[in-house]
Amino acid sequence: MASEFTGLTVKQICEAISTLSPCMDDYIYVYDLVHDFYYISQAAVKRFCLPDYQFHNVVENHAKFVYPADLPELQRDLRELIEGKKEFHDMLYRWVSVDNDPIWINCRGTVIRHENKPLYMIGCINEIGARQKADNVSGLLGVASLKKYFAQDRALLPNGYLMRLGLDDFKEINEKLGSDYGDLILRHTAQCITACLLPDQKLYRAIADEFLIVNFSERNIEDALEQYRHIRQTIDSFVKENNYKVIYTISGGILKNDQFATASFSDTMKFSEFSLSEAKRRGKNCCYIFRSEDYDKFLRKRRLSQLLRRAVTHGFDGFEAYLQPLVNTDTGALYGAESLMRFTTEEFGMISPAEFIPILEETGLIVPVGKWMLNTALLFCHEIIKTAPDFKISINISFVQLLKSNIIIEILNAVDRYQIPPANVIIELTESGLVEQDNRISKLWAHLKNAGIHLALDDFGTGYSNFHYFYELKPDIIKIDRSFTLRAIANDYEFNLLSLMSSMAHSMNLRICVEGIETESELERMKGLPPDYCQGFYFGKPCPFDEFIERFVT
Ligand code: C2E
Ligand code: CA
Ligand code: CA
Repeated sequence: MASEFTGLTVKQICEAISTLSPCMDDYIYVYDLVHDFYYISQAAVKRFCLPDYQFHNVVENHAKFVYPADLPELQRDLRELIEGKKEFHDMLYRWVSVDNDPIWINCRGTVIRHENKPLYMIGCINEIGARQKADNVSGLLGVASLKKYFAQDRALLPNGYLMRLGLDDFKEINEKLGSDYGDLILRHTAQCITACLLPDQKLYRAIADEFLIVNFSERNIEDALEQYRHIRQTIDSFVKENNYKVIYTISGGILKNDQFATASFSDTMKFSEFSLSEAKRRGKNCCYIFRSEDYDKFLRKRRLSQLLRRAVTHGFDGFEAYLQPLVNTDTGALYGAESLMRFTTEEFGMISPAEFIPILEETGLIVPVGKWMLNTALLFCHEIIKTAPDFKISINISFVQLLKSNIIIEILNAVDRYQIPPANVIIELTESGLVEQDNRISKLWAHLKNAGIHLALDDFGTGYSNFHYFYELKPDIIKIDRSFTLRAIANDYEFNLLSLMSSMAHSMNLRICVEGIETESELERMKGLPPDYCQGFYFGKPCPFDEFIERFVT
């Protein structure tokens, strides 16, 4: 049933909202359906990306602060309200905070009608997270209370700390032993931590299985570490007393007071979340002390991941394939080129593949980007073999591509599509990746070999330098990494080792390519091996396709 008009005008309601707003954690709003006008508690502007606390064009303006994925459903609901098909609005969805975080809210509202015509909707919005001021499992106060505690005036102490503690693999405990047992563990953990609290400290429950100890008094980082050790021991004893029914550990992330004294509450929470996840990343059951350099690296990596993902969805904009010449040692003539990926953004300039390839691998984006690279490199080769039919294109393939995509089929199809003889294509795989892989790699490798494609074992000399790959995989080419080359130039023992390895490879009909030759003297020294092919800045740095053609092909 719709509520009937009580005589209050929208203007009067706005005044009432403005008066009540400072007394409430929730946000009251009125949506004038006749004039398409929205008014909300002014405090909401400080919290969410709202255009203002009052605005027109209500539906369109919601797109500015509603989390994009939740927008269609909200718009559908609003439309039904405007069209008078619905009387009550009750939705759980997300608004975007001023810090750009999605915040879960519960938005409710009643449509007020007059003579059957919808006039306005009045309602209330509350943050779901904020409601959890206290947690009934651990008996501790939650983050909303911590925020209040932080807002109090406090002296800028040189010492003091914030420690975030988190159970390791709590999800597994819940899955294996059930959530009731999980709750029991949480309750006991809260008790263990409480037993280790020092005078003046406060303990809060953060999300799920995480706790926060706040120490605003004069204690230093050694005290924090000692406290962490004490908590760990107390939990170990609890595990023992419990007859090892469940064995679990706890990690900790510590922020020193001066690292967050001037930061906002939301930033402080981000630093502390980062610290705990760093401790877990570094092996769990350990403690990590926040370092802003690590956090900056983490932010850069996260930003780079976003930019890489964006580039992939925007036609690989920013990616380029460079070519670096490979030459025959005897004649100095061009043998082929290695294709090397480049990524450039306005924000960071050109980024080294040593930095972005691991991110592509971690995120799985190497699958589409690697495929793009494969096609681009083969297209280049297709052009070059028109004038230099023996030209070889060498393409780096990551193990992630091998294990997570149909790269072998893609290689064979693309080679066919660009009408390139398979023997003009070299696929490079790194030696270090082979160590951890299973025999699936050997099978895939054999598949390419049977199709007549040449294979190169890349970066030889950086990892375990396992000669057994020579026999097992029978690559066509072994690429000696620059670090091995440099060691061989500086040290006779290393040179002899390399020379021995080279003779062995040659006796098996494998060919050697020495990478990273920068000077004539380096070349002269390495000629003693002798390698079949050479690569390095001495012959040419990686460059764009047009430059490569101009310098090395025509
Ligand atoms: P890599 O496969 O060992 O490539 C050779 C690297 O040595 C290239 O670095 C090249 O620029 C550099 N280099 C060549 N000659 C010299 C020299 O004389 N001196 C020195 N100091 N360096 C030399 P780049 O282009 O920065 O690539 C780094 C790594 O990123 C590559 O090492 C490869 O592992 C990876 N990578 C590059 N492109 C791709 C790709 O398309 N796919 C995959 N999966 N990995 C790629
Ligand atoms: Ca390579
Ligand atoms: Ca290499």
